[in-house]
Amino acid sequence: MLYENERVIGIRTGDKGIDADGSKKSNFEPGIDLHAKVAVFGEGSRGSLTKTLIKKFKLDEGKNPQGYVVGVKEVWEVPEGRIRPGDVIHTMGYPLKSNTYGGGFIYGMKDNKLSIGLLTGLEYADPFMDPHREFQRLKQHPYIAGLLKDGKMIQYGAKTAPVGGYFPCPNSLFPEDFS
Ligand SMILES: Cc1cc2nc3c(=O)[nH]c(=O)nc-3n(C[C@H](O)[C@H](O)[C@H](O)COP(=O)(O)OP(=O)(O)OC[C@H]3O[C@@H](n4cnc5c(N)ncnc54)[C@H](O)[C@@H]3O)c2cc1C
Repeated sequence: MLYENERVIGIRTGDKGIDADGSKKSNFEPGIDLHAKVAVFGEGSRGSLTKTLIKKFKLDEGKNPQGYVVGVKEVWEVPEGRIRPGDVIHTMGYPLKSNTYGGGFIYGMKDNKLSIGLLTGLEYADPFMDPHREFQRLKQHPYIAGLLKDGKMIQYGAKTAPVGGYFPCPNSLFPEDFS
């Protein structure tokens, strides 16, 4: 982040072309400074720059603490007729215990594809709980196992997401005086 008189005036990009030891490679390119009247930070869940800004400008003052989930998701190609594009199935409970926040989703897509995933609240009490393993258990539910039978997993991924809703949202404008 680049500051001038306690205002964010832009960002400096990272250096490119550095090897694992930190030495410059032949394609080394130093980071550049990008100045802007307004800088918009869209780093996703708990971004590293956003975290610094929230602290520096006290953007979370009077706000609720944020809550997070980790979402584990796969895209499957399934035999014809299993699900229609646009079909939406949401699940509660199994495989998560009643003291764990979260739930599952299955979305029908075109070309006999579906997207399936499980979101698990990261404040779970059991240190042995593994959201990735819980997702594998979700797929073993008889209804879901039937949907996926003889199908093929074609993509997978996992990502965190904030789930606290409106009240933990940090103030998004700063400093308050734009003059
Ligand atoms: C499994 C799962 C299922 C979901 N399903 C739905 C759904 O059905 N409907 C729905 O509305 N929402 C859904 N969501 C939530 C939705 O994905 C997020 O709300 C949305 O992606 C947030 O968008 P974003 O642009 O704020 O952040 P992101 O999509 O996280 O994008 C942030 C980007 O910034 C990059 N970045 C971070 N820091 C830096 C940096 N310092 N410099 C440069 N780049 C940086 C990251 O690499 C990333 O590419 C789901 C989330 C998950 C995890």
